[in-house]
Amino acid sequence: MNREDFPILEQQIHGRRLVYLDNAATSQKPKVVIDAINYAYTHFNANVHRGVHHLSQVSTEHHEHARQTVAEFINARSANDIVFTKGTTDSINLLAFCLSETFEPGDEIIVSAMEHHSNIVPWQMACERRQLKLRVIPLCEDLTLDIEKLPSLINEKTKLISIAHASNVLGIENRIEQVIQIAHRHGILVAVDAAQSIAHSRIDVQKLDCDFLAFSGHKLYGPTGIGVLYGKEKLLDKLPPYQGGGEMIQHVSFQGTTFNSLPYKFEAGTPDFIGSYGLEKALEYVKGIGIDKIAQHESELTARVEQLLSEDIAGIKIYAAGQPKRGAVSVNVFKGDGSLIHPFDIGVLLDHQGVEVRTGHHCAQPMMEIMGVPGTIRISVGLYNDETDIDVLVEAMKKSVAMLV
Ligand SMILES: *Cc1c(COP(=O)(O)O)cnc(C)c1O
Repeated sequence: MNREDFPILEQQIHGRRLVYLDNAATSQKPKVVIDAINYAYTHFNANVHRGVHHLSQVSTEHHEHARQTVAEFINARSANDIVFTKGTTDSINLLAFCLSETFEPGDEIIVSAMEHHSNIVPWQMACERRQLKLRVIPLCEDLTLDIEKLPSLINEKTKLISIAHASNVLGIENRIEQVIQIAHRHGILVAVDAAQSIAHSRIDVQKLDCDFLAFSGHKLYGPTGIGVLYGKEKLLDKLPPYQGGGEMIQHVSFQGTTFNSLPYKFEAGTPDFIGSYGLEKALEYVKGIGIDKIAQHESELTARVEQLLSEDIAGIKIYAAGQPKRGAVSVNVFKGDGSLIHPFDIGVLLDHQGVEVRTGHHCAQPMMEIMGVPGTIRISVGLYNDETDIDVLVEAMKKSVAMLV
């Protein structure tokens, strides 16, 4: 679908059609986004907010318009709920730092065993700094979240649950609606890591009723270096600022400094006003095609990956097989004697055939430990992938495995 909108896909890799199946790491950019960045630098590059001059005003208008577009994309109540960051990692670090400042020593935070390191390490650092305790929701045998165990992890010290909407390793979606319901019944806040789900499903933060939500522009066909932290305005308002600097202040003196209103309080320094413009164009592009249509197309592709690989490759293990996927499928191949063919070896051979997949631990080492492997081969699709890509992948996998067994 719309492959021709993505200039990078015109090239060949090692003389073959480029089959890009590493979208969970980053997505390619449509021409409208690449052109928009060029347009911004060519036409309105000027720092935002501070200048009275014309270009600065234009730049500011674009930046704030992009904030409004982001708010509409996730159905936030107001643009004040949208903080621009560098990406998901930056969003979660901001949240972990600022929220933990409002917690008391001994308070508790819950994450899950399937989190990306970005949704583990910032909380561990906050726990260390503020003497908090981190608890972990375990997984069931089938690698889904063991929500039944959640109530037993909750007590009167629990302040926050931070959880992935979809696993970047397995592509499966967590039942976050249920997590949010349970949490709110106990007065606990919920932060959602939507880095993997945002490009593959419709997200409505008001309907979900999550308190915070983080995602990156670059996995959503937008530029690298811009991301979003959504937060309910009244909650963001209660948090202390994160970094200090320009833009985030109201008045600075050596007697004391007062801070700007939302969302600027959290945006110290010159913001990525070129990135926000590119992100807005990416969101408009996705909206133009329709996120539901994209989701449907991608779930057909991941189902095809599962079906063809399990038919055609002896010793294949598909993780969370048969469960609906949000853009990603993880597999491994085992030899007849039960030993693992190292995912890296398959990845190298796939690359020689023009097929780009990610192999490794996918920044989820605790998850790998549960799965009992050092890594997986992750096939992750975007809107521009098609059946041909999947067929090329499967043929290339067959050839690669034949060389390694
Ligand atoms: C990619 C990803 C992250 C990190 O995103 P960055 O853009 O690298 O900051 C966090 N969580 C999940 C689930 C991801 O897929």
